[in-house]
Amino acid sequence: MANHVIGSFQLMKSLNRSLILNIIRSSGMISRAEIAKKTRLTPPTVTNIVHELLNEELVIEGQTGPSSGGRKPIMLRINSRNFYIIGVDVGVKKVRFAVTDLNAEILMKSIVSISERMTEEELVKLIIKQIYTLIDKADIPRTKIMGIGIGMHGIVDAERGISIFAPNLNMKNIPLKSMLEAEFMIPVKVENDVRAMALGEAWFGSGIGFEDLICINVGYGIGAGIIMNNKLFRGRHGLAGEIGHTVVDLNGPRCTCGSYGCLQTLTAHDGLKSAAMKEIILGRRTLISELTEGDVDKISGKIIHQAAKSGDDLAIEILQTTGKYLGAAISNLVHVLNPPKIIIGGGISKAGPFLLDPLKEVVLKRALSEEARETIIVESGLGDRAGLVGAVTLILEDMFSLNYENRRQTV
Ligand SMILES: [Zn+2]
Repeated sequence: MANHVIGSFQLMKSLNRSLILNIIRSSGMISRAEIAKKTRLTPPTVTNIVHELLNEELVIEGQTGPSSGGRKPIMLRINSRNFYIIGVDVGVKKVRFAVTDLNAEILMKSIVSISERMTEEELVKLIIKQIYTLIDKADIPRTKIMGIGIGMHGIVDAERGISIFAPNLNMKNIPLKSMLEAEFMIPVKVENDVRAMALGEAWFGSGIGFEDLICINVGYGIGAGIIMNNKLFRGRHGLAGEIGHTVVDLNGPRCTCGSYGCLQTLTAHDGLKSAAMKEIILGRRTLISELTEGDVDKISGKIIHQAAKSGDDLAIEILQTTGKYLGAAISNLVHVLNPPKIIIGGGISKAGPFLLDPLKEVVLKRALSEEARETIIVESGLGDRAGLVGAVTLILEDMFSLNYENRRQTV
């Protein structure tokens, strides 16, 4: 770490502090002597900072560790159960809330439906009300809440904490961060939901141990969170990862964005639904019709998967085609960013081999080199928790990084 470029003593101290906090967190349990060895900080520096962390109850002393000759060392660990984080996952139809500890373990959660007609003000009011209810139910002191992390679908200005545009809700410019910080007087972070998920997977899911990865979420929309060198990559205007609007068929169907043949129109929820509808209207016999009792509005990814599991040809075909389109998009990503690992999440990832096998096949076939063929493609490790754990990780990332102290002072 480049301590020498930072002039201010305070800043260096907080840099060392976050370094120590991070090492305790990633080690699970560690002694002061080991911290000094790993960080190359002097033992008195480590002792002083650890003393501070113990006073703040961020770190606790546990049992003694194995002795290397002398006195048995006292092991330190993060006091994860002493502090809380609130996670909010704003989806297209539902908003999920959770209280977690510092290991992103969900202690309590709630879920509310939202309507398409809801206004920006109503959404913020609902979020505030639900957070109050959750804090009350969980019965936790406000001073122990380290922050509120929000994963919001659509385009987000993460730096200013503004939801710029949520297409499916048709909402614009919601200053979530400033509104919630004014209400709760706790740090608030806002990020695009799929980017938050990618962070969650990197810290707690299928991405553990990978510095670079891409997490793709396929649900009502489709997006990707890109992590490079352990950091989220957002691009110049926060559009990086909007793979739902990359074109995979020049003559494809019209997309909600106005363009044609976007990946989203062929693979996301509506893409699956219209593929099934088209065949049913043409008179094709399928289990999907039986499962929906003839009501095409009831067709969903879940039902298509259910039909596929019972051997329905059309359902299997639809999932295979979806897998192939996703495979083409992923093969593009492999050739642009060359990540070692790609994680697939969202409702569709539950279709398992029906979708993943053709997807992987396309990537294998199109990969340029032997190494590209080795790109690991896996399902989300967090499953349904991915959105909430991701939202919470936004706060954890900040807590365990250099920014934390500076940021707390500005709130
Ligand atoms: Zn589009």
